[in-house]
Amino acid sequence: MSYNSSNIFARILRGEIACVKIFENDYVLAFKDIHPKAPYHVLVVPKGEYRNFHDFHANAPAIMIGEFYQAVRQIIEQSKLNQDGYRLITNFGENGGQEVDHYHVHILGGKAIGPLIAS
Ligand code: AMP
Repeated sequence: MSYNSSNIFARILRGEIACVKIFENDYVLAFKDIHPKAPYHVLVVPKGEYRNFHDFHANAPAIMIGEFYQAVRQIIEQSKLNQDGYRLITNFGENGGQEVDHYHVHILGGKAIGPLIAS
């Protein structure tokens, strides 16, 4: 399956759809999730055409991968989430519940989130 450049995060990256920006550099854009599942819920998106975790790690240049996770760390530390804790999530495929086919990680925090999977 190839990358579909009409996905919603590609449109946000192109500036076609607005977002509440948290962080941006040459490699990464981070913005608030439109349907937050916690008081702090931010999505971190690489500025490249990668569909998911596997595509990103197989095909992105090392600098992009390094900068991506440096940005994740910076965002967490700037938000002081490392003081009380947080959760990082990436969803993949049907079983993972991936809705948007552009690689991203969710950063969630601001309260005790509870078990990973609600019973
Ligand atoms: P997933 O692909 O399952 O990791 O989740 C995609 C996430 O993108 C969901 O949490 C949505 O609430 C979020 N989302 C969808 N559209 C937008 C948007 N326009 N701006 C911000 N977040 C969005």
